[in-house]
Amino acid sequence: MRRVIIIGGGAAGMMAAIKAAENNSSVLLLEKTNHLGKKLSITGKGRCNITNAADIPEIIKNIPGNGKFLNSVLRAFDSSDVIIFFESIGVKTKIERGRRVFPLSDNAHEVVNALINKMTELGVEIRTNTRVTDILVKAGRVIGVEVGNKAGNKFENADAVILTTGGASYPATGSTGDGFKIAQKLGHTVTEILPALVPLETEENFVKDLQGLSLRNVKVTLLSDDKRIADEFGEMLFTHFGVSGPVILTLSRKAAFLLNEGKTVELSINLKPALTPEQLEARVLRDFEKFKRKSIKNALIDLLPSSLIPVVIDLSYINEDKHIDSVTQIERRRLISVLRDLRLTIIKTRPIEEAIVTAGGVSVKEINPKTMESKLIKNLFFAGEVVDIDGFTGGFNLQAAFSMGNAAGKAITNEELRMRNEEYFP
Ligand code: FAD
Repeated sequence: MRRVIIIGGGAAGMMAAIKAAENNSSVLLLEKTNHLGKKLSITGKGRCNITNAADIPEIIKNIPGNGKFLNSVLRAFDSSDVIIFFESIGVKTKIERGRRVFPLSDNAHEVVNALINKMTELGVEIRTNTRVTDILVKAGRVIGVEVGNKAGNKFENADAVILTTGGASYPATGSTGDGFKIAQKLGHTVTEILPALVPLETEENFVKDLQGLSLRNVKVTLLSDDKRIADEFGEMLFTHFGVSGPVILTLSRKAAFLLNEGKTVELSINLKPALTPEQLEARVLRDFEKFKRKSIKNALIDLLPSSLIPVVIDLSYINEDKHIDSVTQIERRRLISVLRDLRLTIIKTRPIEEAIVTAGGVSVKEINPKTMESKLIKNLFFAGEVVDIDGFTGGFNLQAAFSMGNAAGKAITNEELRMRNEEYFP
């Protein structure tokens, strides 16, 4: 029986371990931290959005970081396969808004435990508190790994190695970017590592006054050098440093790349996207009529959340105590323009440690898209966030990790290994 070593016990590593063990390999899973699936257990706010029940083209659309590269591995193991797989290991699932799939229990730990139980049942050897420092290669082929633990450094031989060390975000979960360094040492290209799905910091200080305010049904446009780059409709949140929430996270990947190129980044928030400028003006006039005996700060209560009123009035250069009767047409037009285009200047993203996923990683150009095998080194495979793949929220990142893990785990059969070994060591 051939020995497969899997480096990293996260989503991709555990799936790869199960698939390799089911394919009659002897599997050793090495995990740096004291527990498997630390990140998996905090996913989906502790509920674990395991996949998205969308079809393959839709999944690819939701993976802006090299989604197309995943076509083959998704065909081999798509979201319905993920659901069937989890049901088969005892995790009942449900589909929620936006086709997001969760365990029926709403408990990410159930997902982690089910994966661990399945590995144990299949005889996977699991070693925690064991950090891999290097993958060893001879004559262009993997021969084993070097591990470091309290007892010191040790060599572990392997016929195949699957590198599933994750990205560089949320380092407390164990993903500290080790895999990027290991892959680079072996001659692999690692594309620039940037935060994706990350909150954004603004220049404007007024966001502090809006901290905790969540806006629904707004349209947010990402601009660079005054050019429209992308827009998203939905929910956003103000924080003490800037903005976050679903719409912002979706736009953040493009923002991170633009900022990295030294470009300017602004957000334009349309607070009333369902109304045309004319309809909005009519709506404002109706409110002005209703509150005609009030000052402007008391006349916008039907239109805006209370914490936003002073900010919007200030940005419109109107004195907040001004009586509605004396608000000029120019001032009203300025107010309407702010309601449709509340501008924020983005100075930076939050650090990668706070990003939900890492953009960048081992270049997909150097990986076989069917098997996830390195094109540079025989019997070396990659899966999960260590690869230059990143998706939007909604279960797409775990789907990607599971599909890649499935492909890598299944790719090496004993027969293939035997033939390869004979080819190298006749
Ligand atoms: P990881 O899950 O990060 O696992 C990598 C493992 O490798 C870790 O256990 C680490 O300790 C280990 N390791 C690292 N270096 C070494 C080494 N040198 N030696 C040995 N072991 C090592 N995605 C979704 O699809 N749905 C969600 O609901 C969702 N929610 C998320 C919420 C949060 C807060 C975060 C941070 C991410 C979320 N994601 C979600 C993204 C998703 O969790 C990741 O994309 C996914 O976990 C990546 O899987 P992975 O196996 O590649 O890496």
